[in-house]
Amino acid sequence: MPQRVVHPGLFTAGNGNGPALVASRCDACALLHFPATPLCPWCGGESCTEVAAGRRGRLHLWTVVETAPPGYRGPVPYGFGTVEIDEGLRVVARLVETDAARLGRGQRLELVLTQVGRDDDGTDVIGWAYAAVSGESTTDGAA
Ligand SMILES: [Zn+2]
Repeated sequence: MPQRVVHPGLFTAGNGNGPALVASRCDACALLHFPATPLCPWCGGESCTEVAAGRRGRLHLWTVVETAPPGYRGPVPYGFGTVEIDEGLRVVARLVETDAARLGRGQRLELVLTQVGRDDDGTDVIGWAYAAVSGESTTDGAA
């Protein structure tokens, strides 16, 4: 089955370390942002360096989408929320879990690659999502 990424440059499959988001760290203020851009949205700095980030994080806010939004051609239902990645940035992401009762604030999550749609020619569209980390606490830590 042919595949393509939902948009180039947003994530990497990793090189043995698992998938990661492609973020940028500002060379001037050192703050992180996602998606990666050459301009810093925090200080206006014009030099940022791409970094792999977001392999793991904690769930911050969530919902479950049960009706496909206009133009969306992937499976429903799907989880959707904000995840505070371990590098300290909150990102909007799909969630693998589709039962809201099984999601909780502070739940440990890990980045996975998943099908988010299918083109007319049968090409699978691959994007990222966060899945529960098995065996780790679902309660908020000392953060
Ligand atoms: Zn900056």
